[in-house]
Amino acid sequence: METLQTTKMTMSANNTAATTRYHNNFLKEVEAYVEDGQWVKMCMQCGVCAGSCPLGPHWEHTPQKIFMMIRAGKRDEVLKSDSMWMCTSCYNCMARCPRKLPITHIMHGLASYAHQVGLAREKQSTRLFSVQFWNNCVKTGRLNELKLTMGLYFKDGLMAGIKQAWVMRDIGRNMMLAQRLNPFELFGGHRCKGQSGITAMLKKAREIEHQNQHPTS
Ligand code: SF4
Ligand code: SF4
Repeated sequence: METLQTTKMTMSANNTAATTRYHNNFLKEVEAYVEDGQWVKMCMQCGVCAGSCPLGPHWEHTPQKIFMMIRAGKRDEVLKSDSMWMCTSCYNCMARCPRKLPITHIMHGLASYAHQVGLAREKQSTRLFSVQFWNNCVKTGRLNELKLTMGLYFKDGLMAGIKQAWVMRDIGRNMMLAQRLNPFELFGGHRCKGQSGITAMLKKAREIEHQNQHPTS
C-alpha cells in the first residue's frame, strides 16, 4: 500500500511531467488530462452558468471565470482554488449552458486533477472527505461507516476527535439502538464477496488512466 510520502512524491512527479509537457499551455493540459476538458474552449463566456449556480456567489471563481482563467493560462490560480471542490452536482449550469458544456463534469475533473498533481488545498474539506471515503471503500469493496466517521472526527488530532465524538454521542447511541451502527465494525467489518475482482478492476482502471495520461509511455 502506498505511504503518504510515496503518494506525495507521485503527485509531485505528475505535476512536473504535466508542466514540462504543456509548458505555458494550460488549456492543452486541461484538454489532455481533465475529464471533458476538451469542452472548455467551447465556452463563449455568456455567464449563464455563473448566474445559475446556487452557490457561485460564495465561491472564489464561478465556472465561467474558471474557464476564462484556463484559457488565460492561470494554472496555479485554477488548480489551487477550492471553487471546483464546492460543486454540489446540482446540474443547473449544465441544463442551461447554451453551448451544452458538461460543466459539472469539468468541475469535478478539475478537482480530481488538482489532487493528482498535488496542488489541491491540503485542508479542503471535500478533498479530505473524498480521500477518506475512497481509501475506506477500496480496502474491502464496502464502505465501513464507523471507520469513515472516526477518520473524519480524528483528522485534526486526538482531542478534536474526542470532542466531536462527545458532541455526537446521542446520535451515535440512537444509531446503535436502531442497529444502524455496529461498534464491532471497528475491528474489521463487512466486506464484499468478490474482493479480488474489485482489486483487479481498480488495477485495470489505474492502468487505463495512466495510459490516457501518458500516451507515449
Ligand atoms: S453557460 Fe456555458 S457558454 Fe456560458 S459561460 Fe457558462 S460554460 Fe460558458
Ligand atoms: S453543478 Fe456545480 S457548478 Fe453547476 S450550478 Fe450546480 S453547483 Fe454550480
